[in-house]
Amino acid sequence: MTDPTPFNKKLQGKVAIITGGASGIGEATARLFADHGARAVVVADIQDELGRGVAESIGLHRCRYIHCDVTDEQQIKAMVESTVKMFGQLDIMFSNAGVMSMGDQTILELDLSASDKVFAVNARGMAACVKHAARAMVEGGVKGSIVCTASVAATVGNDKFTDYIMSKHAVLGLVRSASKQLGAYGIRVNCVSPTAVATPMLCSAFKMGVEEAEKFFVEDMDLKGRGAVQVRHVGDAALFLASDDSEFITGHNLAIDGGFRR
Ligand code: NAD
Repeated sequence: MTDPTPFNKKLQGKVAIITGGASGIGEATARLFADHGARAVVVADIQDELGRGVAESIGLHRCRYIHCDVTDEQQIKAMVESTVKMFGQLDIMFSNAGVMSMGDQTILELDLSASDKVFAVNARGMAACVKHAARAMVEGGVKGSIVCTASVAATVGNDKFTDYIMSKHAVLGLVRSASKQLGAYGIRVNCVSPTAVATPMLCSAFKMGVEEAEKFFVEDMDLKGRGAVQVRHVGDAALFLASDDSEFITGHNLAIDGGFRR
């Protein structure tokens, strides 16, 4: 993608929150939103040092880090409220924080307390972020855009990671329901569904380095000769859904998967 000029910036004057913005897809998207003229980008995460580093490198005049554990609804509520207090409104919520299964989690060996932890972030946390962003948008009369990070795992099964797969299917249900319920307020709700991207989460789950992971997962795509999907490709999709370029798109699941075929 070419660098945005003052004439093709897509988020001029917008205020955005990105959960899981300290690393991987969230970090890349925070940078992209700032490049596209967002007035303020709030990076919400639990990795404080990384999150502060992202905010500082983007520039504290337009990016702030707020510690927010999405498993705690009160922290989400407070983070959204302080964003609105600092910047006047909330236009965009990119609800992106997520965690992988702890171990293989096949159905025969499913550890339900480990599953609860995955659900607390990926499903419950996601719902709480959509809830509080939507409330702020409704209260502020903002026809905002909410984008969630689902996954290719939201529409297919897998030979392991049962709880992760289930939690991402839940994101799709959340997006489909919330988009119907918030349509009356002009608020759009969509999700992005990446295939494997060699982020810290993926590399640690599959115990692979970046190069090895990219080589391994590129085999799953129909689209050849372009290498692997990178964080910026997911960021581009989130940007599209966050911006007015997708003005009449809601309830949509946008796959960034190069024709994933498992
Ligand atoms: P990542 O580990 O680089 O980033 C995830 C971020 O979420 C981290 O900064 C982490 O600290 C944060 N986080 C985790 N638990 C949190 C909590 N309780 N509260 C707040 N923040 C929390 O991984 P990523 O691949 O960039 O993941 C981003 C999203 O993309 C996740 O929802 C993930 O499920 C999804 N996804 C990733 C892939 C992939 O292959 N990498 C594919 C499909 C979907």
